[in-house]
Amino acid sequence: MTALVVAMDGPSGSGKSSASRGVARALGLRYLDTGAMYRAITWWMLQCGVDLADPAAVSGRVTEPVIGIATDPEAPGVTVDGVDVSAEIRTHEVTSAVSAVSAVPEVRVRLVGEQRAIIGEGDIVVEGRDIGTVVAPGAAVKVYLTASPEARARRRNAELTGTTVEAQQTEMARRDTLDSTRKADPLVMAADAVELDTTELNLEEVVSEVLRLVKERN
Ligand code: C5P
Repeated sequence: MTALVVAMDGPSGSGKSSASRGVARALGLRYLDTGAMYRAITWWMLQCGVDLADPAAVSGRVTEPVIGIATDPEAPGVTVDGVDVSAEIRTHEVTSAVSAVSAVPEVRVRLVGEQRAIIGEGDIVVEGRDIGTVVAPGAAVKVYLTASPEARARRRNAELTGTTVEAQQTEMARRDTLDSTRKADPLVMAADAVELDTTELNLEEVVSEVLRLVKERN
């Protein structure tokens, strides 16, 4: 039997992270947050003063930082050159810059390669934007999570301070547009993914629906 890969894609605020960790925990699988890897590279580029509006400047330095990512759903975390940056990658500065960096093809080539190496034989839940389409097109279970713009902004707002739901909604819409219209591996639902609208669901309900899909497809 081939080891299980569960691909969890969708826009921010759709409930991907909590659901992916919950599914990994319930099934005793590893967990990979690919967004954290794009955020870590972005954080490093900002630290180095790289001009993020210049794709050539970004691609010219993309191989420099060493990204480490933990795959334990109980203790996810990310390092850059051995330094834990798990908190730093969640700042507004990184969030508003990450889409420009993740649109650079050389950044994607590097990180997709590393993500595939981590996935390896499988037994893992992987969350991102292009997992079912690009990173792991052979995944046995593909889920595409969505939620209404209001629900997504409300959830994100509850995790952050110093912002309003309206400001969140504007920022998310901007990031969605950038992520779904970029040329390299845009955010798009895989043809064989199951769409799950989480607007009216709590975390427990989302997790149990994904567990049901895993059972059905495996
Ligand atoms: O999931 P999260 O909001 O942390 O992702 C941050 C950003 O990283 C996304 O807005 C997107 O630009 C990029 N990303 C990506 N491909 C992935 C995961 C994240 O382009 N597989």
